[in-house]
Amino acid sequence: APTETLESIIATSGPPPHFVLVPLVAQGHIIPMVDLAHLLAERGARASLITTPVNAARLHSVADGARRAKLPLEIVELPFPPADDVLPQGCENVDQVTDNDHFLPLFHAIHRLAGPLESYLRALARRPSCIISDWCNSWTAGVASSVGIPRLFFHGPSCFYSLCDLNASTHGLHERAYTSATAEAEGHETYVVPGMPVRVEVTKATCVGFLDAPGFEAFREDCLEAIRTADGAVVNTFLDLEEQFVACYEAALGKPVWALGPFYINSNRDAQSMTSRGRKTSVDQSAVTEWLDAMDPGSVIYVSFGSIAQKLPKQLYEVGHGLEDSGQPLLWVVKDAEAALPEAAEWLKALEARTVGRGLVLRGWAPQLAILSHRAVGGFVTHCGWNSLLESIAHGVPIVTWPHFADQFLNERLAVDVLGIGVPVGAALPVMLFGDEAVPVVRGDVARAVSELMDGGEVAEERRRKAREYGERAHRAMEKGGSSYENLTLLIQSFRLSGGKETRHTGLQKEQQEKQIMSC
Ligand code: UDP
Repeated sequence: APTETLESIIATSGPPPHFVLVPLVAQGHIIPMVDLAHLLAERGARASLITTPVNAARLHSVADGARRAKLPLEIVELPFPPADDVLPQGCENVDQVTDNDHFLPLFHAIHRLAGPLESYLRALARRPSCIISDWCNSWTAGVASSVGIPRLFFHGPSCFYSLCDLNASTHGLHERAYTSATAEAEGHETYVVPGMPVRVEVTKATCVGFLDAPGFEAFREDCLEAIRTADGAVVNTFLDLEEQFVACYEAALGKPVWALGPFYINSNRDAQSMTSRGRKTSVDQSAVTEWLDAMDPGSVIYVSFGSIAQKLPKQLYEVGHGLEDSGQPLLWVVKDAEAALPEAAEWLKALEARTVGRGLVLRGWAPQLAILSHRAVGGFVTHCGWNSLLESIAHGVPIVTWPHFADQFLNERLAVDVLGIGVPVGAALPVMLFGDEAVPVVRGDVARAVSELMDGGEVAEERRRKAREYGERAHRAMEKGGSSYENLTLLIQSFRLSGGKETRHTGLQKEQQEKQIMSC
């Protein structure tokens, strides 16, 4: 049906649907869910974001902005459940964890939100239309079925990764990799991921995800089971970027996959909440803009490794020296905890002195979207967290790929092999969180990759052209008539009319979808 008709149906057919969103308590998961809540609310649906006090406090500006704009978006704060003794008081977000042994206690505590969530849902005057919960929040499956509400799971990474991960699980790839990898080969044997429309090779070393770490087996199994029992999936991507993977993912899951991204593209958002993205920052955005204004267009390499990856001083030195040796103007984000170590603090000051006039080191949380949108930025060294990668794509900025763990190695393959917008730094081994002493990437790798990205040669320009084109397509997808915009219309409409029972949609036409699936 043409959109006008769908929209008029939405506008006239009973009360708007109510979506209850349950993000995982990690910035890289909360940020896209907040963006999704805005998209839903701006299109007339009610959106309630469920979180705990520490995380709710970070979202004050989101709640205030929604109130000012009279959007039906609310932050629902549930008390943080009693946690195992080992978890420090007040630790409610992955970015507050300082010890690898605290992740499971944090996730177990969050699991205990099931009761309070169910009470909240039952106390509502009208039963909500749908729960959209992070795929890691498997505990929402029982709540949804007990209250009788359809549930979609939100899978945060690229759809390319989601499909690889699902196929790897279905075909026992993880088990094979773990039983056959020999210590001598250090996990470098390659395995082809089955059921992919393109050839994808992984190694045990790189396909190891955060959730595969020892002790997380039961947690991961619960998450996979919650995927199996969900009514569909929501993904932060768009068809013009990942059409074949969306179609194959939908076929492999046997349930609807809603490609609604990039979620952050939402012209009506309040500037303050888009800058902070839920984090306090001491970085002065106007000083950053002023510095960028003084740089030549497309000359600056922006460097940031997301919200959780942390580097030890010896790892920071390799980044800094590599950037310096590349000779390129650089804007590097170093986390407060990294910069606080005395030896790192001193060394960073010396680097700034050596690169004065062409180097800016930001300490803390950076206004990433504003930086990527500045015309002076010509490249991004990224850890390939999907939010950062998608934000770079949507801004038309090509990348140096430096995956650290989890989905990031496969996001790299998408960017480099499929989309042709990235230069790999050459990371062949993960660096896990906290105390991992490995230095798998050294200064020479950084300098080479940055120079290759920024050298202005024919290959670099072609990469840049492709990135720009994907950026334009990302914006078109979110405009009225674009695939993500229309998918969102369909999603809202289907929950308004049928309670989601008749949902299917990648947004692909049937023949188009069948053609894509044939190649899986
Ligand atoms: N981000 C930001 N400022 C920073 C670091 C990160 O705004 O200094 C945002 C970034 O724009 C992205 C998110 O935090 O939206 C990071 O998510 P991603 O998936 O890239 O990585 P993760 O943090 O999950 O590893």
